[in-house]
Amino acid sequence: MGKVIAIFNQKGGVGKTTTNVNLSACIASKGKKVCVIDIDPQGNTTSGFGVDKSQLEYSIYDVMIDEVDIKDAVIKTEYENIDLIPSSNELAGAEIELVSTTDREKKLRSAINTIRGDYDYIFVDCPPSLGLLTINSLSAVDTVLIPIQCEYYALEGVSQLMNTIQLVKQNINPDLEIQGVVLSMFDGRTNLSIQVVDEVKNYFKGKVYATIIPRNVRLAEAPSYGQPIIYYDNKSKGAEAYLELAEEFIDLEEDVI
Ligand code: ADP
Ligand code: MG
Repeated sequence: MGKVIAIFNQKGGVGKTTTNVNLSACIASKGKKVCVIDIDPQGNTTSGFGVDKSQLEYSIYDVMIDEVDIKDAVIKTEYENIDLIPSSNELAGAEIELVSTTDREKKLRSAINTIRGDYDYIFVDCPPSLGLLTINSLSAVDTVLIPIQCEYYALEGVSQLMNTIQLVKQNINPDLEIQGVVLSMFDGRTNLSIQVVDEVKNYFKGKVYATIIPRNVRLAEAPSYGQPIIYYDNKSKGAEAYLELAEEFIDLEEDVI
């Protein structure tokens, strides 16, 4: 049975989507079967894999709102071992449409459970909010992977993030755990980045990955070509870092470390 992981931080621009696209592609390149679910109405994960949102038959919206079978919404990407369940523009309205439905926090959960057996890992890219789409994601997953940007206000909003996880744990998903914390956009030339790493490690104790993702322009360019970094520029610092993170992730899962 595959493990389901939400990539979550309600702050925007911290590296959720970049981590989702590139970590999942790197894990898949190591022979694991991966599915990526894009539940952010912005659809950056969908376009990051080169899939055009306007050309889709079904998206995760249809699964959550119209009860379309999730297997019908799965798309094979052009990359090895990666399937995608895409976002669509309609998802922006889903927050409101969900309010009046029964089991509104659990729409994703039952759908995802039907595809668990098909994958080693399923990653869910969350929107930058604490609305019903995010709550649905946190209710559906086993663990949460939290990207944190190495910047001045890095820990701002983290207590709210931890409260949300705690609330979902108490009320809907008692087994929810933290998978790990990824430090992103690290700039080794600044004392600030170094200081943030210490603060975050102190706050999250043993949960922070040893691999830190550097700021790397190739990571910012790759999405406009619809390619994960290992296909866009395999030799870049960004590709090296996400490959290393994938190894650390798998080793921890398989108890090698
Ligand atoms: P989120 O999904 O949390 O909103 P993104 O992953 O979309 O954040 O990242 C925000 C912006 O920063 C994007 O333009 C992305 O290309 C860029 N970015 C993310 N990580 C890096 C990095 N390590 N180096 C350089 N640019 C990055
Ligand atoms: Mg995003």
